Amino acid sequence: MTLIGNKATVDDFRRDISVGRLSHAFIIEGAEGSGKTVLARTLASMLMCNADNIPCGACKGCITTLAGEHPDVKEIDVPEDKSFIPIDSIRELIKDAYVKPSEAGYTVFIIENAHKMTVPSQNALLQVFEEPPRNTVFFLLTPDRNLLLKTLLSRARVLRCEVLSEEAVKSALTERYPDKADSVERIMRLASGSLGEAVGLMENEALSEVIELVSRYFDEVSKGAGFYKLSTVLSPTKPVTREQLSDIISYFAIALRDIALLYAEEEPRLMFFTDRSVPDKIVTRRTLREIVSSFELCERLIQRTVSANVGTAIALLNSSLASDMK
Ligand SMILES: [Zn+2]
Repeated sequence: MTLIGNKATVDDFRRDISVGRLSHAFIIEGAEGSGKTVLARTLASMLMCNADNIPCGACKGCITTLAGEHPDVKEIDVPEDKSFIPIDSIRELIKDAYVKPSEAGYTVFIIENAHKMTVPSQNALLQVFEEPPRNTVFFLLTPDRNLLLKTLLSRARVLRCEVLSEEAVKSALTERYPDKADSVERIMRLASGSLGEAVGLMENEALSEVIELVSRYFDEVSKGAGFYKLSTVLSPTKPVTREQLSDIISYFAIALRDIALLYAEEEPRLMFFTDRSVPDKIVTRRTLREIVSSFELCERLIQRTVSANVGTAIALLNSSLASDMK
């Protein structure tokens, strides 16, 4: 995946390399799916690139770095069977930091979920930051810099992963999924600036099905007088699983939130509906109180779906949505 946005960060990094004043430790801060890994790999590729104009994106150094496969760019993350980064991983990293790079002039370490390093791990890393080996660059990726030790923070430069504009997310998605124009519009709103999340939503077929189902439900409602039972759009042959139900309720809540906003604002920023005519019609047919009460039920169900019985939750949702049916 190529880097979108963050141009100023890339330009600063290039300038620092050219004047020989590159910092050895960076914290890349940004929400889940904001592109922290892509940014870290792009910056690392500038150190692995042999072209005059770095990063060229086409040489072996660039390509292997962007794919996460360059031998001198080591990526560390929480092991699958653990919930934190163990000290052993950091000790190994420190050992590697003092070994000369095999191909490039630099060794780069990308630590994903850096806030999941234990305190002893962070302290071990701190010692390296205090006397860094030559030509070694660390990128610590985290959603929030304040989750790291202050001492570590004070020895690194913080780069904020910029939130992309809707337009930027949209054009990246359209390029990637040229035949899914309808979904692109909706997913873009739901992901609010996070390209990673948008791609995750696009590629999750089960979730796309849920979004499609909720969208069909409200389409139907907008055409008729009242709300319908949720069961009208559920397939009678395919029982709903707990996970699907939880997704369905979440998207119902987002759609109901959109509708509720239309009572109060002329041009609210809608998250679920891409076609204003659908919620506009519902507004003329339902009272704000009815919408809010269904929304509140969704919220209660979201908190309870883990324990709630799937059948009971659907029945509750049905009776709320279809109440006062004219
Ligand atoms: Zn290159």
